[in-house]
Amino acid sequence: TTGQPAADSTADAPTSDRALGAPLVELSRVNKHFGALHVLQDIDLTVRKGEVLVVIGPSGSGKSTLCRAINRLETIDDGTITVDGKTLPEEGKALAQLRAEVGMVFQSFNLFAHKTVLDNVTLGPRKVRGLSKKDAEEQARKLLDRVGVGNQAGKMPAQLSGGQQQRVAIARALAMQPKVMLFDEPTSALDPEMVNEVLDAMVALAQEGMTMIVVTHEMGFARKAADRVVFMADGQIVEEAAPEEFFTAPKSERARDFLSKIL
Ligand code: ADP
Ligand code: MG
Repeated sequence: TTGQPAADSTADAPTSDRALGAPLVELSRVNKHFGALHVLQDIDLTVRKGEVLVVIGPSGSGKSTLCRAINRLETIDDGTITVDGKTLPEEGKALAQLRAEVGMVFQSFNLFAHKTVLDNVTLGPRKVRGLSKKDAEEQARKLLDRVGVGNQAGKMPAQLSGGQQQRVAIARALAMQPKVMLFDEPTSALDPEMVNEVLDAMVALAQEGMTMIVVTHEMGFARKAADRVVFMADGQIVEEAAPEEFFTAPKSERARDFLSKIL
């Protein structure tokens, strides 16, 4: 674990020596329905501190709902979800505080369109974490530098490329000093030439020891940064394995069928 940004995003070497800590995100028998649709079925999942978990699976299998449930953008019908031992409250200021511990980056960049890049990154820490303007800006500039968009701070989101906007979204989430970062298909809306700049920022974050749950079909990222791959289908965790094992020798028919379609 060197903290160095990845020089070559196509290299296959896994990040192998990251020491995993205590359980940080724990889901126990989580169930969720949308009407008749049983979208999360008895999900048991533990993500340890410092672990990078990649979640993969066909469209409609419940991956986004899983992410959204973890930071309470969705309620669950039964089961428990804890982050660092705490259950997220249903609503109110306590929810905002605890939600700040779970950073989320979506497929669509979700930046505030009418705010500058700098304001996008300082707003949350000032409101929720109570940082002064000066401290929030100092932190924001560091984070923007870290994801390679330090020179864009004064611009409006629409003036940036998709890849730059997504890196701002990562900086904005990091500004809340989350304990875990969730990424829901962060590169699937990007033009192909911008995918690697975002994945490289994510690999660097993984190497720095951030706990991450990443929904992605980017195998290169999974091979390089993931400790574990979870394959979901029809609201269930069908298979979990180390990335190399999953991609080269998937055990389930569902996973084999899915991989044959995306490879
Ligand atoms: P994935 O991210 O794996 O593609 P989702 O979690 O987005 O899957 O969706 C799982 C299933 O739940 C899909 O069939 C989807 O249509 C359905 N779904 C998601 N959100 C809602 C909602 N708010 N209301 C009703 N059905 C939903
Ligand atoms: Mg989704």
